Amino acid sequence: MKDFSLALLNKIEIIIEQWVEAVRQDEKIETAKELTYKGIRDSLPILLQAIATILSESEDSDIKTLVEKSLEHGKLRAKQGYDAEEIAREYRLIRCVIFSVLEEDLEQGTTVEVIRAMRLIDTAIDEIIARCFQTYTQERLKEFEQLQSQMRLTNQELTRLVRASKDNLAHLAHELKTPLTSIIGYSDLFLRQMKQNPNVENNVPNLEHIEKVQRNGRQLLRLINDSLEISRYEAGQMQLHPTEINPQTLINQTLEMVESLASAKLLKLTLECQNCPEQVITDSLRLQQILTNLLSNAIRYTETGTIKVICESLPDNQWSITISDTGKGITPEDQKHIFEPYFRVVSADNSYLPNSTGLGLAIVRRLVKLLQGQISLTSQPGIGSTFTITLPTEVSLS
Ligand code: ADP
Repeated sequence: MKDFSLALLNKIEIIIEQWVEAVRQDEKIETAKELTYKGIRDSLPILLQAIATILSESEDSDIKTLVEKSLEHGKLRAKQGYDAEEIAREYRLIRCVIFSVLEEDLEQGTTVEVIRAMRLIDTAIDEIIARCFQTYTQERLKEFEQLQSQMRLTNQELTRLVRASKDNLAHLAHELKTPLTSIIGYSDLFLRQMKQNPNVENNVPNLEHIEKVQRNGRQLLRLINDSLEISRYEAGQMQLHPTEINPQTLINQTLEMVESLASAKLLKLTLECQNCPEQVITDSLRLQQILTNLLSNAIRYTETGTIKVICESLPDNQWSITISDTGKGITPEDQKHIFEPYFRVVSADNSYLPNSTGLGLAIVRRLVKLLQGQISLTSQPGIGSTFTITLPTEVSLS
């Protein structure tokens, strides 16, 4: 019986030539475009020889070589950067090229001989594909695992660097505070002494300079304190100290603290507490910090009208404090960024208000989160703004 093994062995080089050319022509096997002739051809001659022995009836089928070489081929293609579809296309081409090169020989065989040869070639190629994909997938997995552990290491290193730079910044900020406090303190003392001096009239320009130093010093100190507050929160160093408090009393105390600021601008401060909880468990100092920030913003950004505070009990052990003003309001675009650190709304004259750091609301949001609550904002430019904080009636210490 004609087995076509000799025909295949004789035409191995032609098959390889035509196949390499077909692979290079295939638009979808992009990886092959960067490979040399040898890189594409690789173990194909040995694989074809193994197929020939499988076709031959007289020789022992060379399944072992076929398996070994297919496994090697999979590894190589993974290293060369092939994707799975490209490998599948290469094998489809080898099937086509083998049958086209052997066409004349096959025509001379009987139907039984041809069917046998085609079946054996197909089976051999299917086996090659299966083995090749086995190692290809293993190699890719290995690569992914390496990449993953590399990324884990990089991530650890980045986290370490970020922490180190945050620590350094916090340290630097802390170090700046001492000389700055002394600058403010001495300029304060100097100003007081100068003002007691009977010849103060002659020193007015000097006084103004010192006052400027003092103002800028205070602003810098505020910026440092606020930045330190944010970095303490980010480092998870802010501790909760919950106590039982009466919300109405705490709000009243906070209103008293900002009253002079409001009356200086002839603004009305009102409080509605009819539906306020009697008692809640929360961190009173942090809550007072939140309220002072929101109230002083409301006063700062309002020229006429009323600042209204409403405290209410809510279902599901929640309660809320709402602070509304009749001020300049915030545009929908600015509302998107308002809680980001250092974000400040630019005024019409392209400037910022003095004493503005853009950190107040960023701190407020973090503190509200620390108290396990939420903050929301509704605002209309020219009409006013309303900040609402919703808190649990009992903060949990986890
Ligand atoms: P700062 O007030 O120090 O600039 P904030 O984080 O407290 O920083 O506020 C960020 C910006 O949000 C402010 O610059 C201001 O433009 C705007 N803003 C905050 N509160 C109000 C408010 N009640 N009404 C109008 N604008 C506000």
